[in-house]
Amino acid sequence: MAADFVEGWLLGQTLGEGAFGEVKLVINNATGEAVAMKMIDLRKYTDAALSVKKETAIQRSLRHPNVLQYYGKRSHANFEYIFLEYCSGGELFDRIEPDLGMAVKDARRYFRQLLSGVEYLHSRGVAHRDIKPENLLLDQYDNIKISDFGMATMFRFKGVERLLDRRCGTLPYVAPEVLKEPYRASPADLWSCGIVLVTMLSGVLPWDQPSSKCKNYEDWCIGGVLGSNGPWKTMTAGVLGLLTGILADDPQNRSALERVQSHPWMSTQSSDDIDYGSNLEEFSISLSQPLPSGDHTASLIAHETDDREMTCFSQPIACDDLLLASQMNLTQSASQGVFQKLVKRMTRFFVGCEYAQATERLTAVLRSMIQCQWKISQTRGITVTTTDNRKMQLIYKVNFIDMDGKLLVDFRLSKGCGLEFKRRFVQIKKSLADVIIQGSCN
Ligand code: ATP
Ligand code: MG
Repeated sequence: MAADFVEGWLLGQTLGEGAFGEVKLVINNATGEAVAMKMIDLRKYTDAALSVKKETAIQRSLRHPNVLQYYGKRSHANFEYIFLEYCSGGELFDRIEPDLGMAVKDARRYFRQLLSGVEYLHSRGVAHRDIKPENLLLDQYDNIKISDFGMATMFRFKGVERLLDRRCGTLPYVAPEVLKEPYRASPADLWSCGIVLVTMLSGVLPWDQPSSKCKNYEDWCIGGVLGSNGPWKTMTAGVLGLLTGILADDPQNRSALERVQSHPWMSTQSSDDIDYGSNLEEFSISLSQPLPSGDHTASLIAHETDDREMTCFSQPIACDDLLLASQMNLTQSASQGVFQKLVKRMTRFFVGCEYAQATERLTAVLRSMIQCQWKISQTRGITVTTTDNRKMQLIYKVNFIDMDGKLLVDFRLSKGCGLEFKRRFVQIKKSLADVIIQGSCN
């Protein structure tokens, strides 16, 4: 049973960990509506207040089917709560098989949606600056939702564009000019989209970083797809042409977003390649309130003085309670929800053994992995801390959940590269094959 959170709303399971705290699921008791809630402990993270303010100021003005919808935020007892559209489909990296990628038609569909969301952001003068599969969530219909506006900024205001000079993003996804600065916002975001496409089609990142420090990247600059090792071999000429345009070292020579959208590869259709609910018209019908005008949104932001702001236009019907409730009870957290309430995730399996044996087997595998440390919690969880091939920190959590008389072993990325996390998962799954109940997951 979940704990009563705000009257009528239940606090569900943890969906993930953010830079400043946990993200939890909150469910309306009567209607079953689900909302994601980012909880930020302002005492623990003293620099969080300003970045939250900036992040939400940008996010609240956005409204597009491929951009995660912001509902509002409120403060209570040193905590900041941000309410967001709930994405039950998990994260994009989860759909990418290490060294393989995914079906081309799925990659194309996700890529189209990603570009549609980015095009919208840029039309509003917003640069995301950290586009990568870990920040692309999926809703129940498998639609891309661009999330995590922690590094976003305005690059155009009243029609005047400014150059950006903050080095930010994630090295393998970042455009080369970002490391040199100043840089233009739109080509840099588009570059990151191109790297996302490469990972979707191949399951690998083409280089660690786009600079002379990295041989794979140097080779790409000199010889393109022919002159470099990398994930290109399995790709068709059509998509290679597209990627060559997106991953042009000089942003001036890079294809513009509209050009990418009209590339023949983008419109290749197969009969089962349909975008469910991804056009704006269809989306707006499902909303409880009409779309706001741009001016209306702007005035709300300008007049916001109250912490208990409520800016939402598309929020679930009962979401007001969450934003305005005077009492919040966060003392108890919910136990594991029923399976249906869990986010869709490929990184889990059922085992045919008891908890004690399962942890023993898992820790034996972890012991055999290099630079791997772990901590077992009282609540049937293991936190694993390690470093990946790029020497970046990788943290993931393993939860053991009793379900229908079986034991579910659920792996969730906390910090680091999604593809590297999946690689570890595949390795662990192989090692535990004899206790895994085959065909039992997802
Ligand atoms: P970081 O900087 O480490 O990425 P962050 O503070 O920006 O952290 P998010 O990336 O927004 O936090 O969220 C952390 C994780 O929580 C996500 O990777 C995802 O697993 C989960 N999550 C966030 N928002 C939602 C949502 N709306 N629906 C479902 N899960 C979510
Ligand atoms: Mg994130």
